[in-house]
Amino acid sequence: MTASSTDSTDSTDPTDSAHSAASSPLPPVWRIDPVRLQAALVDDARQWQCELVQETGSTNADLVQACRRAPWAEGDMPPAGMLRLAYRQTAGRGRQGRPWQGQAGMTFSVAMPLALPPARLAGLSLAVGLALAEALNDFDARLGKAVDLKWPNDLQIDGRKLAGILIESVPAGPQRVWTVVGIGLNLVRDAAMEAALGRSLAGVTECMDGFDPLHGPTDLLAAVLNRLAAMRSAFLADGFAPMARRWSARDAYRDQPVRLLHDGAVQAEGMARGVDHEGHLLLETASGLQRIASGEVSLRPADEGVR
Ligand code: ATP
Repeated sequence: MTASSTDSTDSTDPTDSAHSAASSPLPPVWRIDPVRLQAALVDDARQWQCELVQETGSTNADLVQACRRAPWAEGDMPPAGMLRLAYRQTAGRGRQGRPWQGQAGMTFSVAMPLALPPARLAGLSLAVGLALAEALNDFDARLGKAVDLKWPNDLQIDGRKLAGILIESVPAGPQRVWTVVGIGLNLVRDAAMEAALGRSLAGVTECMDGFDPLHGPTDLLAAVLNRLAAMRSAFLADGFAPMARRWSARDAYRDQPVRLLHDGAVQAEGMARGVDHEGHLLLETASGLQRIASGEVSLRPADEGVR
């Protein structure tokens, strides 16, 4: 890993707004320890270029730009992956341009080169969600067990959102694509943010009595990066299919009535019947079983309001 950090003396406290209402508050300042992070990384993740910055608009936007500039010609070995973590994001984004509030957690992005044609990328989004859930398990078995997945890749605890993932692609050639994975992971459950967003949220610390506030974020980040690197290798070799069973074991809405929304409007309703080997949602509707690609739709339990 090549680590660089603009982390310094600065004083902006990324968790400020979490203080008043968090059910399990973090100390005023947490920071990633680059030396400890490097020591905890294995395999490919050790080669990734890591940048820790105090503040940026969006780590995903930053890495999308970096990927556009990165040389990766046909026949070249894939370049090293990249990590960019910001203690504060001023323009964090979820899917379809929805805003992401990062003040109660970690926000970072990872750029991974994949030498694959577009047709072989099916299921990648689910593979990333699974890697993140399994990293939480590596970090703390009790927390990991509590985490389930909402198709295509949200992490939840008891139906409350713990993490959101935004994946963007930067093509480098016909068989070469950069995948930029943005992760927002709530460390604490922040009641003020719940009130502002009008939805229940979850936080890592609510399940972990022993979370070490000093080293916890660094060790957690290392677990995530190691899982993402392992997922990348496995995905390059065999795609999503061998991961489908593990994904299904964490499927929050299997055999439950759900709705699919697009732009706030209901597109389809039915029973969720799990996912296929390419990561499509299987939706049993009045007119038969449909295979839904993850693109632009959002899954909601049928008893939840349209949002
Ligand atoms: P989808 O099912 O399509 O993923 P989503 O509403 O969960 O739907 P995302 O794009 O994953 O959408 O995330 C953006 C949404 O997440 C925002 O519209 C907001 O409601 C919510 N959100 C923003 N910040 C946080 C946060 N820190 N924790 C949990 N949820 C958040």
